[in-house]
Amino acid sequence: MAVIDEKTVREHLSRIPVPGGGDLESGGLLAGLTINGGAVMVMISTTADQAAAMEDVRQACEAAIAALPGVEKATAVLTAEMPAEAAPPLPEKLGAEGVASIIAVASGKGGVGKSTTAVNLAMALARLGKSVGILDADIYGPSIPRMMGVDANPRQLPGNKLEPVESYGVKCMSMGFLVQEDDPIIWRGAMVMGALEQMLNDVIWAPLDILVVDMPPGTGDVQLTLAQKTKLAGAVIVSTPQDIALLDARKGINMFHKVNVPILGIIENMSYFLCPGCGERHDIFSTGGARLTAEKYAAPFLGGIPLDLDIRETSDGGRPIVVSKSSSAHAKAYMEIAANLVESLSVPRASPKITIE
Ligand code: ADP
Repeated sequence: MAVIDEKTVREHLSRIPVPGGGDLESGGLLAGLTINGGAVMVMISTTADQAAAMEDVRQACEAAIAALPGVEKATAVLTAEMPAEAAPPLPEKLGAEGVASIIAVASGKGGVGKSTTAVNLAMALARLGKSVGILDADIYGPSIPRMMGVDANPRQLPGNKLEPVESYGVKCMSMGFLVQEDDPIIWRGAMVMGALEQMLNDVIWAPLDILVVDMPPGTGDVQLTLAQKTKLAGAVIVSTPQDIALLDARKGINMFHKVNVPILGIIENMSYFLCPGCGERHDIFSTGGARLTAEKYAAPFLGGIPLDLDIRETSDGGRPIVVSKSSSAHAKAYMEIAANLVESLSVPRASPKITIE
């Protein structure tokens, strides 16, 4: 089978004319390109008022890619990117049809195990009998498909709808399907919202009890916009126990408070280390900080997950521990956290800082 190379695809796409003159290349409108076996996906930037005219360009892109040798599936999507001053107010809040609760899994900074926790939590919720989806909105490092062992792309259905890829009983959709994991892409707020809108509205999620959204780490503009514009039932904050990490976690809590999103709970990841040699528990990062932070903010403490090689190897290897070692102590810890989260979801939060509508 012919191997598709990015340069050839770009060459063919660059010749496609765009309304108002010029072509995709000179207009800088090629926002993303992913080649996954025989499946090629491109993302084309547009503005809201150009979107209808750009539909022809989108179709021309699909046709141009489909004609290349070795291409089995060609997908082109339009993404609205607008200069902030020209952007009309975004629609009220983005929800997803047929999804009961959207939950954000967030962290104040990267590397605390947010994605690992999100994946295992989603699978634990599924094991509790919930219908669950996971939406990877971590634009800086979309790792959910890899952690879920997914190597297929979502299937395109008539009417520009996408069928999420299912793995271990959980439906999955990721920004990573649009960009490669190591693509150096700079995302702007409006661009992220456009992509998120597509992933909420154009993906066949329903019926779903819970959609877990793996947020980008941190508390910058992109995270704030996502938190503000998505119809969230609440947020779960993942932190490691060190003071410095907890400081970032508190920034995360404050960000959600600011936009009236309830904190459903806090999870302490890499909470302690159970030594496989001596069997003793070592509190490497002085455990318990997340529980204290939770108390301070009147948010539920959902539980702690130890630092363990098995957790790392299974999640990085696409076999999350909740499903691959389902009766292990670690899987049980995730199951308990999932049960606590379900409980937390059913209780209206009464933190004085949060306004419940
Ligand atoms: P984030 O999403 O916060 O950037 P990841 O979930 O990608 O973090 O985790 C970063 C690394 O730490 C990954 O290699 C992951 O497997 C590992 N990891 C996460 N949680 C644990 C844990 N409890 N024990 C051991 N390794 C972990």
